[in-house]
Amino acid sequence: DAAALGRVVAQMDGQSYGAYKRLAGSYQLGPFHLDIDHVQVDPYAPPSRMRLSASPAQTRLPARLARDALTRTAVADFLLRRLAQAARRLAPRPTGTGSSGIVTTGEPGQEVLERTSIVVTPEGGGARVEARLEVGLPASGRRIRGREAARLLTDVLLQLAEETLVYTNLGHQAQDAMDAHVELAHDQDYIRSSLPQRGLVAFVGDGAVLPRRSGDSDLPLTGATVVPFASPPSLRTAFDLPSGRRIEGMGIPEGVTVIIGGGYHGKSTLLRALERGVYPHVAGDGREWVVTRPDAVTVRAEDGRAVTGVDISPFISNLPSGTDTRFFSTTNASGSTSQAANLVEAVDAGASVLLIDEDTSATNFMIRDEQMRAVIPVDQEPITPFVERVRPLLTERGVSTVLVAGGSGAFFDVADHVIAVNHYRPSDVTREAREVAGAASGSSRAAAGAALPAPGARRSVTLGRSGGKPAKVRGRGSILYGGDTIDLAAVPQLVDAAQTQAVAWALDRLPGLLDRAASLPGGTSRPTTLSEAVDAVLRRIDRDGLDWLSPYRGHPGHLTRPRRHELHAAVNRYRRLDARQ
Ligand code: ADP
Ligand code: MG
Repeated sequence: DAAALGRVVAQMDGQSYGAYKRLAGSYQLGPFHLDIDHVQVDPYAPPSRMRLSASPAQTRLPARLARDALTRTAVADFLLRRLAQAARRLAPRPTGTGSSGIVTTGEPGQEVLERTSIVVTPEGGGARVEARLEVGLPASGRRIRGREAARLLTDVLLQLAEETLVYTNLGHQAQDAMDAHVELAHDQDYIRSSLPQRGLVAFVGDGAVLPRRSGDSDLPLTGATVVPFASPPSLRTAFDLPSGRRIEGMGIPEGVTVIIGGGYHGKSTLLRALERGVYPHVAGDGREWVVTRPDAVTVRAEDGRAVTGVDISPFISNLPSGTDTRFFSTTNASGSTSQAANLVEAVDAGASVLLIDEDTSATNFMIRDEQMRAVIPVDQEPITPFVERVRPLLTERGVSTVLVAGGSGAFFDVADHVIAVNHYRPSDVTREAREVAGAASGSSRAAAGAALPAPGARRSVTLGRSGGKPAKVRGRGSILYGGDTIDLAAVPQLVDAAQTQAVAWALDRLPGLLDRAASLPGGTSRPTTLSEAVDAVLRRIDRDGLDWLSPYRGHPGHLTRPRRHELHAAVNRYRRLDARQ
């Protein structure tokens, strides 16, 4: 059948590009299966979407490598990295007009996450493996280059499948690397799931490399200037991992932890590593042993964002305009109101840990000093600063905070732990900070009033949109949804465009779920909350796979699994969101 496909394509040589349309369909490619799901209309259009799959008998993947979801994710991640590399080697650059001759797949970053680019499905004591590719069908101008297309579809794709879909072709070295990849994923997962019972919110292993190569690269910094992480003795802890390894490092306990230190001494770098520690990382990343609770959320100021019907009254009340901040809406939030909304929304979405950096915070949201209190009476200041809410947030709601504050000691007397970084080396200075705080006047304050709106006092929202074109993604930080742009640039735990794409298509699934009523005991009902609708989407993904999100049949596009928190973040930033009390 591969030979037949080759002949058909070769005979198209010189015909106009549209003739390629006839290729859509299913083919046997040697021992593999090739599905051509979508054929591009011209050489400049997005490349044609194809799938290569191998049955359990062909992949010969041992059953232990398909035993549970985490293992399958790690195996698929490993195979995807090989596939992407092989595609770059075998089809490196355009051979004609537009995307002619190029083969691509998903581009995984440093995280090991569930993706649609390669899917491993358990089947009959083994596993089926399916790779999703884009292939630029070759042309000169609008004329088909038939012989080259035949080589691409038969030789190149066959070679790709042989090299990446067949376990026994990998060779011992790659097989061992795959086992190590799976083992690392399980070790990291073990730490992440042990954190709550250890009373920790995060762990940073000794020897970790936290700094990145540059502001726009997620690769580790290398060279003699790198200072590997070393834990302070008082916070040192160890994990005995499923692999038999033992790993030591710093445990950050539940509560309020403040990171201080001189400018440029590595505070933000540590916090950013913690924020990415919600995801597992590949070996060699430097953050393999930086592990944070999966529901930790970065909260920052984001002036200009839209806010719809959020109760920010614990932080902001008595606005001069008389606006009701228990149901606050704006199309253009200030630094402090945006940070208040981000915080309330994060907790509402289930965050148990907040990560806050002074560099990306509104100062008036965080603190107010004694001089200012003396000049501006409390009843003239709408803002209750975070420093007065951070403890009630912990005691009333069980939400921990890890906070970078190099410019002010205001958090010393509300902190459980104070960590100083000096030349990138952390030390525990809790005692010194306490002494300083005790000596200062106007000591510890928790403002009157609730730390947060009651969890039951939920608004219900509708997206005011259903049907229409699928949502589109412009890079990592932006979704085109219903004629509007949802700006996610200030949502740092969204890791790549494929994850944003998954969020975008999840938005397409939400209206139907939000409009449904949730039934209550006694036969009554109320509108479904955002949390319930998001959870329903995530349950469907658990059941039917990430493919379910895609509006396309066959090749679903490249998606990375998002967290519930980023789904909430996208909905909350939609400018046409409709909220009711
Ligand atoms: P701060 O927030 O304390 O001002 P940053 O975290 O922004 O400091 O770090 C300042 C610089 O130091 C950055 O360029 C960062 O890449 C680098 N850096 C951070 N940690 C390390 C480290 N462990 N080794 C080497 N360089 C580091
Ligand atoms: Mg900083």
